[in-house]
Amino acid sequence: MDISVVIPLYNEAESLPELSAWIERVMRDNGFSYEILFINDGSRDNSLDVIKELQRNNPCIHAVSFSRNYGKSPALDTGFARAKGDVVITMDADLQDSPDEIPELYRMITVDGYDLVSGWKKKRYDPLSKTIPTKLFNATARKVSGIKNLHDFNCGLKAYRRDVVKHIEVYGDMHRYIPYLAKNAGYSRIGEKVVHHQARKYGSSKFGLDRFVNGYLDLISLWFQTKFGIKPMHFFGLLGSLMFAIGFIAVVTVLILKLVAMCSDTFSFWLTKSVYFYLSMTFMILGVQFFCTGFIGELITRNSVERRNYLISEEF
Ligand code: UDP
Ligand code: MG
Repeated sequence: MDISVVIPLYNEAESLPELSAWIERVMRDNGFSYEILFINDGSRDNSLDVIKELQRNNPCIHAVSFSRNYGKSPALDTGFARAKGDVVITMDADLQDSPDEIPELYRMITVDGYDLVSGWKKKRYDPLSKTIPTKLFNATARKVSGIKNLHDFNCGLKAYRRDVVKHIEVYGDMHRYIPYLAKNAGYSRIGEKVVHHQARKYGSSKFGLDRFVNGYLDLISLWFQTKFGIKPMHFFGLLGSLMFAIGFIAVVTVLILKLVAMCSDTFSFWLTKSVYFYLSMTFMILGVQFFCTGFIGELITRNSVERRNYLISEEF
């Protein structure tokens, strides 16, 4: 099979007939063998009935339906697990992404040899409250992930070599950082294609402004996992040592001052009134705590299946 189109959806009943007809037209015109995987993320409208109706006329349509709303990432992950096509294409269900981009995305994966091609909504039809923070968000994501050529990490329209989607786990809200996940898994040929974007025709956006706060928190988590995921002691140990060293210097200072005071008649020194006394206590306790956190982290990674997840490109 040439292409699997994975479409996560949450209350998008009105868009689905138009979207599937459009995809079918593009596939037919280009002679692709394909499947459409609708992942119904606990919709409360009649999306599921619409999909069942669509499937009656097109056996290439398949669906998975969640019992409640889990989020876009779990929906994508479920679609990825089931995708059979050589190239896997994801797109939003709200008709904001154009299926006309599919042939070129397919070509970039199969002919140009990209592992992943991400869409770039260069001209966006979204409100300003979304487009401006998005620019800032993408600049940070570029810096942190080191993927310098991407302008639009969170574009719903993306294409992957099948191998890639089988080796990444999109959990929580990590759909915003799939290129970063792919890079971490060892897939570095990541390209970009300017794609046509449309204003939402039916319904409303499913993400509010909290997307930016959560987006940044997720980026910090991902950065931490990437750098220290299987060696947490390198982070906590360094921080702990630094704190302990500061605390130790403060203890020595306090002791010297006390000794001097004991030997002198004129200089008096109250341990508990000295700032060094409190610094020594705080920093030494913090240092030990960081160290213990590091040890616990190491014990946890010791039991993690991830630690031996190497992606081997060739073996002779
Ligand atoms: N979506 C989903 N589960 C959710 C939220 C969104 O499957 O919990 C789907 C949604 O139906 C759409 C896609 O993810 O197909 C992108 O959502 P939306 O268009 O609301 O995001 P925006 O375009 O505003 O970034
Ligand atoms: Mg949308």
